[in-house]
Amino acid sequence: MKHLNNYADQRFNGQCVYCGAAPKTREHLPPKVFLDRPYPDNLPIVEACLECNNGFSIDEEYMASLLDCTISGTVDPDLVKRENIKQTLKKRPALALRLQNAMRSDDEGPLFDFEYERINNVVQKIATGHILFELNLLFSETPKVAVTPFATLSEDQINTFENIDLMASDFWPEVGSRAMQRLLTNEDNVYNKGWITVQPDRYRYAVIQAQKTEVRMVFSEYLTCQIVFEDAV
Ligand SMILES: [Zn+2]
Repeated sequence: MKHLNNYADQRFNGQCVYCGAAPKTREHLPPKVFLDRPYPDNLPIVEACLECNNGFSIDEEYMASLLDCTISGTVDPDLVKRENIKQTLKKRPALALRLQNAMRSDDEGPLFDFEYERINNVVQKIATGHILFELNLLFSETPKVAVTPFATLSEDQINTFENIDLMASDFWPEVGSRAMQRLLTNEDNVYNKGWITVQPDRYRYAVIQAQKTEVRMVFSEYLTCQIVFEDAV
């Protein structure tokens, strides 16, 4: 990915993006558990305190493993697709068992019950980081979250989700913010029709600033997430 500095004001530097405490760690967006090695250069990074950074990692591991098990149709570490997840399932027998218990079968094959509360926590957190990184805005409210596999969306719903009309926005991003730089230069080929691909087939996202501020994400080209915040603080 292309490296972009934040040239907007620095009012949010020096605090945890999630709780405002003094930051001790750097949080990758998305967390690396959702990506494969070799990791892309210049991953978006925000500052976080140790507690917030660690506090989410169990849910992130759960969500990434659940996704790969769902896509692979198995919880067998030798049969899941992603190398990261093979290792995770071997290292974390309790997680593997939990996923095993969440698996049931119907005519179409294995299905998994999703623990949506945990997934919502993860995507809400990533969205907050993306908005700070791209727009230099920080939200503390609880957003509306919709998490849906592509397979359960209609064609119309997919079109609405995929098509981002950046020029229809009533708002220009803050001067100096990364979103404004992307808009002006438009030379970054990872930035395509409003979507920023962090790693092909693994993770892409879009940050939309209109009447409401919204983040859309796609994990493993399987799960769509839409996170909508009403007001900036
Ligand atoms: Zn924190």
